[in-house]
Amino acid sequence: MTPTLPALFIGHGNPMHALQDNAITQAWHGAVAGLPRPRAILVISAHWLTRGTAVTAMAHPETLHDFEGFPRQLAEFDYPAPGDPALAQEIADLLGASSVALDLDWGLDHGAWSVLAHLYPRADIPVVQLSLDVTRRAAEHYALGRTLRPLRAAGVLVVGSGNVIHNLGLMDWRHPDSATDWARRFNDRLRDQLELADHNGLLELDSADAHLAVPTPEHYWPLLYIAALADAGETPAFFNDRIEYGSIGMLSFRIGAQP
Ligand code: ZN
Repeated sequence: MTPTLPALFIGHGNPMHALQDNAITQAWHGAVAGLPRPRAILVISAHWLTRGTAVTAMAHPETLHDFEGFPRQLAEFDYPAPGDPALAQEIADLLGASSVALDLDWGLDHGAWSVLAHLYPRADIPVVQLSLDVTRRAAEHYALGRTLRPLRAAGVLVVGSGNVIHNLGLMDWRHPDSATDWARRFNDRLRDQLELADHNGLLELDSADAHLAVPTPEHYWPLLYIAALADAGETPAFFNDRIEYGSIGMLSFRIGAQP
């Protein structure tokens, strides 16, 4: 019998993590240590935004270098994992096939590969990405996440890649270890909501702190998908619970125990 796999939300932060070995990336390695080998990986990345939902369905997704101003080593980074067209169709069927586009143009964006390069450095497990439909509200993203629950029992590791707090405009570049008061408050509240399975609370982003922490929703939405994959009684295991540069939250969590 296929064991039910955990699901992961990873705060990805700076793309340079792909090339680095530090406390953050070591915790990424630890998040999958001892897991049975997944049949495939589904990534929901903050960096693939579409109108309507799409899922990558090519056999060989390209490594996309969707950023500027980083060293050549990063611009040439390759993560040659295969795709999984059959899984793409399975996901489309789960979500209601008529409303999901099978995409042949995207690939793996840096939200996916900067993390996967550490989770599975050999790039030998098929990877599929699901886009974030910008026309949907937070509650609808959460509902889509619920729909994906059967994947965990089908040997698919679902990984959300974003940042719980992501305000690039307010970053304090001179102080990597700093955290603003509002970021700390937002982070603490979020951790409590996840621990208590207060998923309605996760959808309320009206407070002054939330406006600062989530000025645009795309880095936050992936965590809703992962929270939605929890079964009753499954509490999250947190890692990388830190804020960087004042306004970037690295908090990450795993839903579900090691099988
Ligand atoms: Zn990002």
